[in-house]
Amino acid sequence: RTLRPPVGRFAPSPSGPLHFGSLVAAAGSYLDARSRGGRWLLRIEDVDTPRTVAGAADGIIATLARFGFEWDGDIVWQSRRTEAYAAALERLKAAGHAFPCACPRREMADSALTRDGSRRYPGTCRNGLPPGRSARAWRVRAEGVIAFDDAIQGLQREDLALDSGDYVVLRADGLFAYQLAVVVDDADAGVTHVVRGADLLDSTARQIHLQHLLGFPQPDYAHLPVATNAAGEKLSKQTLARAVDEHPPAAALVTALRFLGQTPPAGLDHATLAEVWAWALHHWRLAAVPRRRQAPAIDID
Ligand code: GLU
Repeated sequence: RTLRPPVGRFAPSPSGPLHFGSLVAAAGSYLDARSRGGRWLLRIEDVDTPRTVAGAADGIIATLARFGFEWDGDIVWQSRRTEAYAAALERLKAAGHAFPCACPRREMADSALTRDGSRRYPGTCRNGLPPGRSARAWRVRAEGVIAFDDAIQGLQREDLALDSGDYVVLRADGLFAYQLAVVVDDADAGVTHVVRGADLLDSTARQIHLQHLLGFPQPDYAHLPVATNAAGEKLSKQTLARAVDEHPPAAALVTALRFLGQTPPAGLDHATLAEVWAWALHHWRLAAVPRRRQAPAIDID
């Protein structure tokens, strides 16, 4: 799509230590960008301050460095980017795409479910705040169908009104929503390729919608399978967090490569970290990544 080198990124939320699932996402996005001579950026997604755990960001950064990840430029911290998000919201308001909403969460308890299991907004404040009520949050009008071709998961299609409903961009607690922050950050950083876990596949249509409304270019998307435990549950921040830090990085990285469908030779398990990266950069094939939204994590030996 573009002749210029790709720009990828890894955007962890600092809600706990780097676990196997986040190592997979970091490695996938890194190899996708770097194997084509592209740039790779690191952004700490601490926009949701109540979910941010003290020290987690520093721990993630230290683990990434220990694994030999090299990012370009300065680390971006979402908590320092409020002005950029506010400016984007002003543009959405001015164009009539965003509206204030007074609905307390409990009033939505009976509304229909969206695709990701949250409650679909029933549209109460869409045409104006009910008399005597004041704005708690700001929402964007969800209209139209978004289709995109995910490089791993294939063609995706979402009817925004049905599958997401009018979605929050400024939360009732005064924080900007992840959906808005990620779109503004990726656009400002010039990200061309978003490679991340398939747990975010259902957010992508809303993000593309916001890109269209704000006039931002649409990056290419590739959603990697998410690592689960044997019971099929998404790994918690704790489950394999220790495993990633307790094992030699080279062995953990080889395991992440296998999880991503790559075929490192048996000897690579005992190679140095530099040798593993050299092999991975040379042999990386996005087309080999399994087309599944989740897969059981492989034990690191
Ligand atoms: N911060 C998100 C997470 O850790 C990832 C966001 C993204 O890659 O777009 O799940």
